[in-house]
Amino acid sequence: MNNFETEAAELDKADQLAPFKKLFKLPANTVYLDGNSLGPLLKSTQTTVSRVIEQQWGNELVSSWNSNGWIDLPSTTGAKIASLIGAERGQVICCDSISINLFKVLHSALQLNPDRHLILSQTGNFPTDLYAAQGLQQLLGENRCKLVTTSEDNIESALSTDVAVLLLTQVDFRTGKLHDIEKITRTAHAQGTVVVWDLAHSTGVLPLYLDDWKVDFAVGCGYKYLNGGPGAPAFIYAAKRHHSKFTQPLQGWMGHMAPFDFSEEYAAGKGMQQFLTGTPQIISMSALSDALDLFENVSIADVRNKSIQLTKFFDDCKTKTVQLDELQLISPINPAQRGSQLAYSHPFAFNICQNLIALGVIADFRSPDVLRLGFSPLFLSFADIEQSLSTLCSIIESKSYLDERFSAKQKVT
Ligand SMILES: *Cc1c(COP(=O)(O)O)cnc(C)c1O
Repeated sequence: MNNFETEAAELDKADQLAPFKKLFKLPANTVYLDGNSLGPLLKSTQTTVSRVIEQQWGNELVSSWNSNGWIDLPSTTGAKIASLIGAERGQVICCDSISINLFKVLHSALQLNPDRHLILSQTGNFPTDLYAAQGLQQLLGENRCKLVTTSEDNIESALSTDVAVLLLTQVDFRTGKLHDIEKITRTAHAQGTVVVWDLAHSTGVLPLYLDDWKVDFAVGCGYKYLNGGPGAPAFIYAAKRHHSKFTQPLQGWMGHMAPFDFSEEYAAGKGMQQFLTGTPQIISMSALSDALDLFENVSIADVRNKSIQLTKFFDDCKTKTVQLDELQLISPINPAQRGSQLAYSHPFAFNICQNLIALGVIADFRSPDVLRLGFSPLFLSFADIEQSLSTLCSIIESKSYLDERFSAKQKVT
C-alpha cells in the first residue's frame, strides 16, 4: 500500500466543508461510506426530535397542529427542499415515500398526455420505479398505461410521439452514472413527452435546477443525502404550469381543499397540497426538517466540488495500488459523469463488504457483485478515505474476506 496519508492531510487542510463533520453524531472508529443509503444523525436533529416528542407531543398534545405548525410541515419542509433543487416556491411538498409518490405522480403525468399510454423507462432502473409503473399498468389496463424499458444508450432514440411519460432516475443506484436532466428533458419535450425524474441519489449532493431545466415532475428521498433518518418522508416536485391540469389517485382528507370542513365530496386542494393523502408523519418529518437547516449554510456547488474530490481521491489511490487491481470500477471514470458514489465489481464483493463493515468501514453490497461506496461530503474527511483504502487493501491482500463468517446474508444488504 502506498502512503496516501500526506496527500489526505493536505486535502483536509484545504477543505472548507471540514467544520461540518462535527455536527454529526458518528460512531468512533468508523468510516461511514453509506450516507447514500442512510444519512447519519445530526446532533441538532436528536435535540429537535426530543423536543418534538417531549414538549410538542408530550405537553401541547393536539394543539401542536396549530401552535407548532404541524399542519404546515409538509409545505414548510417542501420549501426547504425547493431551494436545493432549483424550484420556486409552491412546487415542492414533503410526504410519503418515493414509491408512493411515484404512483401518484405517474398517474398525474399520464393525464397530461391523455391520447398516449406508454411510460418509457430504463432497464436496470431502481426496481421501485418500475414496480410503481407496473402497478399502475395493472390498475388502469395496458391500453391506458403500459411500461416499456430500454437500455441506457437507447433512451433518446426510443422517445417518440407515442411516449406519454419518460421515467428516469438521474443517478444509477448501482454504477452512479449520471443522466443529463436538462438535455434529456429537452429531447423528451420535443416529442411532447412528459418527464418524471427520480432524484433519490441526487438531492443534497448535486446541483439541480428543475425550474430552469423545465422538468415536469420529480420525486426525491429524505433519508439519503438529506440525513432525515430511517424512513424519513420523501418529496414531490410538480411544475406550476401543470398544477391545474391533473389530479392524483390517492385521494385523502389531507389533500382536500378544506380538510376540516369534513365535506363528503372530495375537492382537491390547490397546488401541491393535493398530493397529500393522510396525516403527515410529524416526528420523522420534524427530523428531516431539522436536518435540512444544515443546507442553509452550505452551497451545493461546494458540496459537489468536494464530492468530486473525494471520489477522485479514492479512485486515484485505488488505481495506484496494484493489490486492488482485482476490483473493477463500474462507475464512469470521469467524475463529472457520476454522482457521489463509486462502484466496483468483484466476485467476492459481498464478503469484502462484510469484512469491511467488521473493520469499521461501512459500505454496501448491491446484487449481483457490486461493492458500493457512498461519499457524503458533509461528514467525510480525506483521512477517512485514506483509512478506508488501507483497510480495503489489507482485506484484499490477506484474503481475510474468505472467512465464512463474511458470507452470511442478512435481510438487508
Ligand atoms: C432509495 C431509492 C428510492 C427509495 O424509495 P422509497 O419508497 O422512499 O423507499 C427510490 N428510488 C431510488 C432510485 C432510490 O435509490
